[in-house]
Amino acid sequence: MPHVAVDDKLREECGVLGIFARGLDVVRLGYFGLFALQHRGQESAGLAVSAGEGIALHKGLGLVSEAFNESHIAALAATNPHIALGHVRYSTAGPSDLDNSQPLYDSGDYDQGDGSPSRTIPLALAHNGNLVGMERLKAELAAQGAVFGTTSDSELILVLLRQYLTADLKEALIMALNKVRGAYSLVLCTNNELIGVRDPQGFRPLCLGRIGDGYILASESAAIEALGGELWRDVEPGEMVVIDDTGVHFSRFAEAKPSSCIFEYVYFARNDSIIDGQNVYEARVALGRRLAEEQPVIADLVISVPDSGTPAAIGYAACSQLPYVEGLVKNRYVGRTFIQPGQALRELKVRLKFTPNPSVVRGKRIIIIDDSIVRGTTMKLLVSTLRQAGASEIHVRVSCPPYIAPCHFGIDTPSTVELVATRYDTEGIRRMIGADSLGYLSKEGMLKVLAGGQRQFCLGCFTGEYPLPLPHEERAEARRAEEDWGDVRG
Ligand code: 5GP
Ligand code: MG
Repeated sequence: MPHVAVDDKLREECGVLGIFARGLDVVRLGYFGLFALQHRGQESAGLAVSAGEGIALHKGLGLVSEAFNESHIAALAATNPHIALGHVRYSTAGPSDLDNSQPLYDSGDYDQGDGSPSRTIPLALAHNGNLVGMERLKAELAAQGAVFGTTSDSELILVLLRQYLTADLKEALIMALNKVRGAYSLVLCTNNELIGVRDPQGFRPLCLGRIGDGYILASESAAIEALGGELWRDVEPGEMVVIDDTGVHFSRFAEAKPSSCIFEYVYFARNDSIIDGQNVYEARVALGRRLAEEQPVIADLVISVPDSGTPAAIGYAACSQLPYVEGLVKNRYVGRTFIQPGQALRELKVRLKFTPNPSVVRGKRIIIIDDSIVRGTTMKLLVSTLRQAGASEIHVRVSCPPYIAPCHFGIDTPSTVELVATRYDTEGIRRMIGADSLGYLSKEGMLKVLAGGQRQFCLGCFTGEYPLPLPHEERAEARRAEEDWGDVRG
């Protein structure tokens, strides 16, 4: 059924993985690689594999451990493949059904357009990021008869590729990418090639590693390390990497305009990943140190909201010469739940997830560090449970600036009105969460820590200014151009 995407509804953060390695068990490597990327998406998981003829695929809903059982793995492994392509998906906004899970697959019979017999190029594609302003193109393609089987924006790339596939695959891909805008770290495969692509802004990460005589493409280097491979380098913004039996071939399909997501360093990525040359853990510790310099407070202890707040808390404690202690115990099994969104259940989930350790916090003046405040749900609850546990003062420090605007480039964000920093100033948020004091890291401080070397960032969630125009801005621009034209004619 043709489906026209509505931009605001289809945002997701995901993890992608590709392996090309003869002589290795790429199915099991792919499966374990998805475990290493599980933090990037918990709603569905999938693996596509090829042994040179056709592509076999398995996808399932839920965690990797839920989506796959031993017989799925055995069935894929039975084909003895040397190419594997994997995806984990996170989307609280779009429907989380199997149709929208990835890798997307196209069995692909292509008319070569020159009267010669059609050839078959099976394709599978895994996408992390979010395309923007694609409604018109999608509607045009649908009007021309293209059939969209999913509501995922990623399918647009596959549909465009199919349209251009009378040309060489690489050329067709470049033509397809020239038609789309937004965030895309893509890994795709045919039955004899594995291809990695990172959009010109490099919004989302993508890196390349070696394993045995083969290669791995992954959203994060942590997945390459976990598989016993070795990080080679990041795929650069605007770069395409083609891996086949002749080796690795790099090319540039667009000029690089680097503007990578700063929130990957704040929250999303794993601590042990290296993104664009920067180790995420070290970045987070440094953000915490900077936060201590900018927002000092007299207290007895520093605690964190585990796990993502922990490196910043370690940095804050070291810089302020206070002990870092484990004041909250995290139940690591509550990560993903089947409860429906909604404020009451969200609060219950936070309660289940974090429990204060009363002996540690009783009678103490506490500094609690988190990486970010989004809705404020987590911190409001933690402040009240820490008070119940006997903390005498609670000072909240956050290792990024106030989160004031939605992400349009791959992170699922609540609507603007749900972002607490759009409704209150810092004093208002302090009152709302019930803390004795509240301090955020400044934007300047964050950039000072992270913007070393060549790195340039998208700061959209902290500024509301984005490196690419959003669809409504483009429409307004087009209207203005039309009006100007009217003036000239008039
Ligand atoms: P809040 O409770 O204020 O809405 O969210 C803040 C908490 O959620 C912080 O502990 C932060 O680590 C975490 N967080 C920040 N961004 C995201 C996200 O995109 N997804 C999820 N699941 N958690 C997030
Ligand atoms: Mg957190």
